[in-house]
Amino acid sequence: MTENQPIYVLSEGSKRTVGKEAQRNNILAAKLVAETVRTTLGPKGMDKMLVDGTNDVVITNDGVTILEEMKIEHPAAKMIVEVAKTQESEVGDGTTTAVVLAGELLKNAEKLLDENIHPTIISKGYRLAAKKSHQILDSISKEVTINDELILKNIAKTAMTGKGAEASKSKLSEICVKAIRQISDENGIDLDNIKIEKKVGGGVDDSELIEGILLDKEKVHSSMPSKLSDAKVLLLDSPLEIKDTEIDAKIQITDPSQLKSFIDQEEMILKDMVDQINNCGATVLFCQKGIDDMAQHFLSRYGIYAVRRVKHSDMKKLQRATGAKIVNNLKDLSGEDLGAAGLVKEKKQGDEDMTYVTECNNPKSVTIFIRGGTDHFIDEVERAIKDSLGDIASAVTDGKVVSGAGSTETLLSKKLREFANSMSGREQLAALAFADSIEIIPKTLAENAGLDPIDILTDLKSKHDAGQNDFGIDVFTGKVKNSWEEGVIEPLKVKTQAIKSASEVTDLILRIDDIIASKGDNNQPPIPGQGMSPDMMM
Ligand code: ADP
Ligand code: MG
Repeated sequence: MTENQPIYVLSEGSKRTVGKEAQRNNILAAKLVAETVRTTLGPKGMDKMLVDGTNDVVITNDGVTILEEMKIEHPAAKMIVEVAKTQESEVGDGTTTAVVLAGELLKNAEKLLDENIHPTIISKGYRLAAKKSHQILDSISKEVTINDELILKNIAKTAMTGKGAEASKSKLSEICVKAIRQISDENGIDLDNIKIEKKVGGGVDDSELIEGILLDKEKVHSSMPSKLSDAKVLLLDSPLEIKDTEIDAKIQITDPSQLKSFIDQEEMILKDMVDQINNCGATVLFCQKGIDDMAQHFLSRYGIYAVRRVKHSDMKKLQRATGAKIVNNLKDLSGEDLGAAGLVKEKKQGDEDMTYVTECNNPKSVTIFIRGGTDHFIDEVERAIKDSLGDIASAVTDGKVVSGAGSTETLLSKKLREFANSMSGREQLAALAFADSIEIIPKTLAENAGLDPIDILTDLKSKHDAGQNDFGIDVFTGKVKNSWEEGVIEPLKVKTQAIKSASEVTDLILRIDDIIASKGDNNQPPIPGQGMSPDMMM
């Protein structure tokens, strides 16, 4: 070995970026992501049209949906997408807020890096400020319970404002609140108990809350009744069919009468099964598995309404809506296993028949049926409804809410500044930068509404200095107003979670000073600056 021979530690084709360059690359990528969704924030935010490789189109205003559809490759940018996803799974709303905040925290951190402040000092200052934010937010929040219908309705409306659902937000928010109140029980709120069913047709105003379950399924036999009052519901998770023999048996039939008796025997078994169902008093059958043609015929002769191949998740919902037990073995069947529904009917929606299980007595599972002119529209309405449901659920679960429209952020920023001023050392600069970063929310809300952000922020601050803590931006008139009284209300968790995820990701990104990208199988190694389409580069 000669002395001048280079030593290769990394495999051929690996790329390494170190120090400031690595940091700047990551920050740039993260800021780009935040910049992309920033224009969608708030009631006056614009929508994005996302077209994928197969020309499928999604039109949305929803932060997490945009980021997921964008198929981002850059590793630091991907971390920002994770922030949105965490926000989505923890609260269901506030995804844009979280991402925009992360972008601003990084932007302001970059300025401090330029002033030669060490990343660990910035991290520390940010962490102290983030911790303090939670205390402050908690102290300024207001209480709410499931009985505060008006507040809950306002929360739903706030979540929908600016989305496709906006025009019908009054009706839709009422549906959301009713749905949540209906399914909440001693264990709290499980959003899985709200089924969302969509069908193109009618207008969004035709959307409705069904106090029970709506299934995109028709009855199995045309001569079954289409409508049944006071239905006794049986949920069966085994097939109404004759099981195929496990072993390949050969049956030798030597004359026609033998064949007939063989068929008769099969018929008898099916008839027996149906008789058991009928004898226990069931008038409606939901079967998770198949129903043999012969069994369908017998069921219809008894006037039983039957649906087959019902999804397991729907069986669970039917269970909670009707109070029925899910039965596995017909032999153990008794009247006690049955549930009840005031009305079961088949109804045509568009060109398909659907099964309505309605008028259930205090159902613990309900359906929101969304209607609208096109698929794209219905999908966006669904996202808005899900945001609303998530917001109401987290407000009720935590029992705490805050006023929106930039009011909470203005107050938080002010209090954080007071906190930072009490600090000493260089962390103070970072804490102040954190306080400044929070203002990106009111600033962006104003900008997206075509207002002058400096004027609005000045107005807001002077109101807050005068103790008007609920003052936020009325994006429709361009004035500052009491947002609580205007009914712009959000759960506390939207804010705390956004700050938590945004400051965590900032911390992670700031601490990276070395990027080693090994050459993967795909010819696009995850190198900073690559993996983003050219129009995303600043
Ligand atoms: P996110 O994905 O973060 O939820 P949105 O586009 O839903 O983004 O915007 C949320 C922001 O819009 C919040 O700061 C909220 O307070 C604000 N907002 C909602 N409704 C109004 C309103 N009527 N007036 C002013 N601001 C509003
Ligand atoms: Mg929202």
